[in-house]
This record gives sequence, structure tokens and C-alpha cells, in this order.
Amino acid sequence: MTLIDKAFVTNCIFADNVRMNNEYKQMSGREFPRFSGIKTFFRLPIANIQDNFDVALFGIPYDGGVSYRPGARFAPSHVREFSSLGRGFHMSRAMQVFEKMRVADVGDCSTVPIDQAQTYEKIEKFVGDIVKTNKKFISVGGDHSTTLPVLRALRKKYNEPLNFIHFDAHMDTYPAAWGCEYHHGAFARHSVDEGLVNPKQMMQIGIRGPLAGADDLNFVKKNNIHVVTVDDVRENSLSEIIKKFPVFKGPTYISFDIDCLDPAYAPGTGTPVPGGLTTYETQRILRGLKIENLVGADIVEVSPPYDTSGITALAAVDTMFELLCLMGENK
Ligand code: MN
Ligand code: MN
Repeated sequence: MTLIDKAFVTNCIFADNVRMNNEYKQMSGREFPRFSGIKTFFRLPIANIQDNFDVALFGIPYDGGVSYRPGARFAPSHVREFSSLGRGFHMSRAMQVFEKMRVADVGDCSTVPIDQAQTYEKIEKFVGDIVKTNKKFISVGGDHSTTLPVLRALRKKYNEPLNFIHFDAHMDTYPAAWGCEYHHGAFARHSVDEGLVNPKQMMQIGIRGPLAGADDLNFVKKNNIHVVTVDDVRENSLSEIIKKFPVFKGPTYISFDIDCLDPAYAPGTGTPVPGGLTTYETQRILRGLKIENLVGADIVEVSPPYDTSGITALAAVDTMFELLCLMGENK
């Protein structure tokens, strides 16, 4: 056996071992260099939804809901690639997240690139199958229109509107476009109108203009949604902002649109908006959230064709890690 064959076999055996022993460990970068191996999220084992673990990671490769630049359908494989750099120990929490919880990559949800209705059905079923086994999950979209069927599945599972924390440059409460209701800038409005999330326990972070008109604000005003703008973050200290966050009791969902970040930190996205948050500010905010039961989360709107340096994917990987640690705090 050549050295290369041997390395390949060892690699496979390693991946098998972690799963067979129910350990769900990352493939070590000190044993196998981080640029080697078959790419899974965080170099974790691949598993079936029914297997015995705690948190499922998966992709939703669909961008049929974008209104401007497409490309988010390529995000799951791009983020998997960059997650080879994702490590498991959180310094300020002193938590080894992959020891606290068993986490696995369950692959991608199947989608129909030219049919949103069919894609929505598939996403709702896929997420429904995961939560049926009482697992938590983090998905990588996909454009923001993919969050709506995820929330529909969660609403059925938990039988009550969810608490909802939404990071975004945009409120995503905008009207139909070209006669189509379910574009990526309308999912938050539908989520409230369908009773999937509780607007009284909803917070939008990173919001900024310009808007199409003053009436773009009507929906969040009417529903009394707590909006944290970039001005709010910059005009106060981060510690003050965090201190004012409510405690989220009951099932809570986080949707992280990567365009909440400034395009300097996340250029690879469909609808970039200047004047956004820094990666560090989102880290601090995520670390400061007080959530008793984070049941699921997503990262959406990463568009690899515009992410030539990979910094957008790295920000997505880092956000996944912070989200996992928030789930780990509940364990
Ligand atoms: Mn959005
Ligand atoms: Mn956005």
C-alpha cells in the first residue's frame, strides 16, 4: 500500500471510528492537515438524522428567492470548505463545544432550483424530520426566503410562536415584488403574519437604511418589534446594549443574515449595505444573548461568487461556532 492509499484509509477509518464509538469528534488538524480530507462542517462525522446525537448541521442550497445578486445556492459547500478552520474550544466561555454536545453533518436538504413551492415543502419536511428526533440544528442557506419553511416546521413542533432573533441589514418585512410574495425580503413579515414567531419576543439587529420609503417602517412599528440599528450599537457601548437585552424564555430561533455585517467584513452576499456591523460586534452580541432554549438557527445570504477572499465564509463559520456555543450553554 502506498503512503497515499494508507492516508486515505486511515482518514476513512478515523471518520468511522468517531461515529461508531458515538464520540462525534472533529478530525484533528494535528493528525490530518486542515486542507486535507472530505469536507464536512467543522470536520465532524456525517450522520443520518435518526442517529444518536444532539445537533444537526446541514445546508439548504436554494437561492430562487433573491431579488438582486444570486449565488447563495453555493454557500453550503463553500462554508463546509472554510469550516475546516473551525475549532471547538470557546475562549471566553471556556467551553469545548464538541464535548458538551454531539454534533454531526447530515448533508444538504434537497431543493428544486426552479420551483419555490416544492423547495418549501422539502425544507419543511427535512426540518420536521430533524426536530421529530428532538435534535437542535443549524443550517446554512440559501437565501433568506429559506427561513420561512424552517419556521413553519418549528411552529408545528413546538405548538407556539417562537421567540425570534433576526440579524440583518434589512427588516425583510417588505411587500410582494413582481407579484411574488415569497422573496427573500418578505420572510419576516410572513413569519409574523402566519403566527410562526411572537413579535413581542422578536428582536432585529443590524438594521440600517436606505429604505424605499418611510412606509417600509410601518410593519415593525405596527407590531412593536424591537429593532436594534447600527446607530444604536455605535452610539452606546456594546456592554450597555447587551445589558438591555431581554431574557428569551421558551423555544427561540436565531436567523443570521450575513449582510448584517458591513460589506468590508462580508462582501460575499447578494444585497450588500454599507455602514454595517463588524465581525467583532456580532461576536460580542451573540455572546451577550440570554437564551434559555435555542432550538435552531440559520446563516443565510452567503454568496460565494462574490466572496473571492473567503472572509464572508469565515465570518459564517465563526457565527456557526458562536451559535453552537449558545446551544451548548443550554445543555
Ligand atoms: Mn435577510
Ligand atoms: Mn439582508
